[in-house]
Amino acid sequence: MPNQSPFDTTQNIFQNRDVLDVDDYQPEQLIERDEQIDEYASALEPILNGWKPNNIFVYGKTGTGKTATTHYMLNWLRHDIQEQSSAVEGSDKKDSNTTSSTNLEVVYLNCEALTSSYQVAVELLNDLRDEAHQVATRGHAPNDIYNWLFEEIDNRNGVVLVVLDEVDHIGDDDTILYQLARARSTNNLKNSNLGVMGISNDFSFREDLSPKVRDSLCEKEILFPAYNATELTEILKRRAEKALYDDAYDLGVLNSSAAYAAKDKGSARQAIDILRNAGDLAQKKDLDTITPDLVKEAKGIVERGRVSEMIGGLSPHGKYALHGLAIASKNNETPIRTKELYDYYRIVCQREQTDTLSVRALRDHLAELDLIGIAKEDQRNAGRGGGKYKQFDLDVKVDAVIEAFKSDTDVHHSMDNSF
Ligand code: ADP
Ligand code: MG
Repeated sequence: MPNQSPFDTTQNIFQNRDVLDVDDYQPEQLIERDEQIDEYASALEPILNGWKPNNIFVYGKTGTGKTATTHYMLNWLRHDIQEQSSAVEGSDKKDSNTTSSTNLEVVYLNCEALTSSYQVAVELLNDLRDEAHQVATRGHAPNDIYNWLFEEIDNRNGVVLVVLDEVDHIGDDDTILYQLARARSTNNLKNSNLGVMGISNDFSFREDLSPKVRDSLCEKEILFPAYNATELTEILKRRAEKALYDDAYDLGVLNSSAAYAAKDKGSARQAIDILRNAGDLAQKKDLDTITPDLVKEAKGIVERGRVSEMIGGLSPHGKYALHGLAIASKNNETPIRTKELYDYYRIVCQREQTDTLSVRALRDHLAELDLIGIAKEDQRNAGRGGGKYKQFDLDVKVDAVIEAFKSDTDVHHSMDNSF
C-alpha cells in the first residue's frame, strides 16, 4: 500500500456539494412559483377540514420545479395538520373549534421505474401496508390488488392523498387512474377521503387519457412554464450561496450557466447540473475559482450526458436515422429533405450490415427524434405548385451526437471517416 492516501479532501470550491444535487436537495423557498403554489393550496385546502381535496393534474417540461413545488406543498400540509393536532391535544375539550384534527396519509410515488398500472397499484399497496403484509410484485389478480388497496385506504379513517410523480411512465394503460377515480366517485370508500395528484413531463399524456379518467384526474390543472434566464439566475444564486464558497464564483458564472439552460429548455435541472459540473472541474484542477472557461466545458459535459441519455432510449433504426442526420449535418447539408436523408440512412445501414427500412419507416423514426427533442422538423412550401415538404435538422450539437455514438453498442462505425 502506498504511504499516501489517494483522496484529497481539501476544498476550495464546495462548502456543501450536496446542495447542488438536483433530485435530493429540497430548497426552502421557491422562486417564481407563487401562482402554482396558490393553485395547489386552493385545491388541497379542503384536507385541513377533513374533506375531499380536488384531484390535481400537474404538467410542464422537465426541470420546471414540479417535484420541488409538490414536496414544498406536502411539507406545509403535514406541518399544518401537525399543528392542528397539537392544538386539539392542548385544548380544553369543550372548546368546539378545536375538537378534531384530520388523519392525513400521503403516499408519494415516483413512477419512473414503474411501467404499468399494475406495478403502480402494487407499489401503492405495499407503501400502505406494514412490513409483515407486503404482497409479491407479480402473481396476483389485478382485481385483488385493487380491492386490497381500497381496503387499506379506507382503513385510514381520514384523508389519503396519492401523488403519482412522472405518471406518464405508466404508458397507455391508465387502469390505476381509472380505479382511483372510481373509488372516489362510487361508494367504495366509506371511512376515508381520497385525493389523487398526477404529475407529468409529457404534454400529450393528458390528451391520451380515457375521457372519464381525464375528467376526474384533471379537476384542477396546474401548468409549470419553462424558466427564463433571469429566473434561473435567481434559482442558482440561492443554491450557490449554500453550496459554494463566496470566493469560488461570481455572478458571471451564474449568469452564463443560466443563459445556456434558458436558451436550451428553460430547465433549472440543467442550470444546476452545469454549475455543479463546473465546480467539479475547478476542484479537479485544484483551482480556487470557477472560471468562464470551465462553465463552457461543463455545458459540453451536461449536453453530452443529455444526448447520450436520449440516444440510449432509441431503437437501432432510430439510431441509424440519427446517425445519418448527423453525417448530413457534418457535411453541411442540413436542413435536409427526407428523400435525401434516406441516402445517408441507407449507407449507415449498409455499414452496419443490416437491412434498410422503407422511406415511410424512416419518416416514423424521424418523427420520434423530433418528439424527444434531438432533431427538429419543419414544413416547407416548395413554391408555386410544388406542394409542401418536410426538412430535418439536429436540435442538439452535432459534436455531442458524434461523441455519444462512440460509446453506443448499436452503431459500430464511428463518423471520423465519414463519406
Ligand atoms: P421537475 O420535477 O419539473 O422536473 P424539479 O422540481 O425536479 O423539476 O426541479 C429541478 C431542480 O431545480 C431541483 O433541484 C429543484 O430544487 C430546482 N428548482 C426548480 N424550480 C425551482 C424554484 N422555483 N426555486 C428553486 N429551486 C427550483
Ligand atoms: Mg420531477
